[in-house]
Amino acid sequence: MNFPFHDKTLEGQHILITGATGGIGYAAAKAAVAAGARVTITGRNEEKLSELKQECGGGDVFAVRADLSKPQARDQLVEAAANEFGPITGLLNSAGIGGGDIVENLSEEDLRGIMELNYFSLVELTQLVYKGMKDKEKGSIVNIASLSGLRGTHGNSAYSASKFAVVGFTQAFALEAIEHGVRVNAVCPGYVDTEMGRNAIKSKGERNGRSYEEQLKLAKESIPSGRLTSPEEVANTIVYLLSDAAENIVGESVKISGGSVMR
Ligand code: NAD
Repeated sequence: MNFPFHDKTLEGQHILITGATGGIGYAAAKAAVAAGARVTITGRNEEKLSELKQECGGGDVFAVRADLSKPQARDQLVEAAANEFGPITGLLNSAGIGGGDIVENLSEEDLRGIMELNYFSLVELTQLVYKGMKDKEKGSIVNIASLSGLRGTHGNSAYSASKFAVVGFTQAFALEAIEHGVRVNAVCPGYVDTEMGRNAIKSKGERNGRSYEEQLKLAKESIPSGRLTSPEEVANTIVYLLSDAAENIVGESVKISGGSVMR
C-alpha cells in the first residue's frame, strides 16, 4: 500500500503516541513521521522503542518508556515531551489491553485492570495534554476504541465495556473541547493484524475448541472484505484525523472493519 499523504501533511505538529511499541501505535508513529510531524513515542518495551526510533530515522522522534497506569509516569511523560519538542498538538491514545473471559469466569483483576488502562489512564493522560492544547486553541486527539466499543462482542464484556466508555468519553469531551479549537475523535477498528488481534482470535478459538488457523478462517469469512485490517490502514486514518484535512470532523467514531460493522 502506498503512503497516501505527503511530508507536509503534519508539518509543524508534535504528536504524542501511546502504545507505540504495539502494532497500531508503531505503524501510526512511522506514518506521522513520514507526514512531517515530530513525534514522542511511548510504550513499556525499551528495545521496541529504540527500534522504532531507528526505523523513523531518529531525529524527529523522542522515546519515553512509561507505564501509563501510573499517575507519576503520565506527568513525567507529558513534561518530558513538551521539553523536547514543544507544545503537543496531537495525541494518539493507542495503549490498550485485551483479555478477560466470559462473565461467569471474569476475574476482578481482569475487570479492573482492563478498565484501569483502557479507560481511566486514557482519560487522565488526555486531561494533562488537553491543558496545553486549550491554551493554544488548537489540537487533535484520537482515541483508539474498537468495533467492540459500538456493539458487544462474545466473551469480551470487560474489554467491550472499556471501549464503550472510550466512545462515550470521546463524544462528550468532543463537545467541550471543540469550544476551544480542539477536535476529539475515536477510531473503531474490527480485527487488526497485530499481536492483540491475533490473541483475540486465538482466545476465541480456544473457547470454541478450534485451532488458531480454523478460527482465523472463520474470522476472515465473517468480514465482508474477506481479510483483517492492517495496522498501516488504521495509521492512515489516524494521520488524516490528526491533520487539518479533518478540520470539521468532531466526536466521530470512525469504523475500519472491512464492512463487519454491518454484520
Ligand atoms: P498491541 O497489543 O500490539 O499494543 C498495545 C500497546 O499498549 C503496546 O504498545 C503496549 O506496550 C501498550 N500498553 C499496554 N499496557 C500498557 C501500560 N500499562 N502502559 C503503557 N503502555 C501499555 O495492540 P494493538 O493492536 O496495537 O492495539 C492498539 C489499540 O487498538 C488498543 O487500544 C486496542 O484495544 C485497539 N484495538 C485493537 C484491535 C486489534 O484487533 N488489534 C481492534 C480494535 C481496537
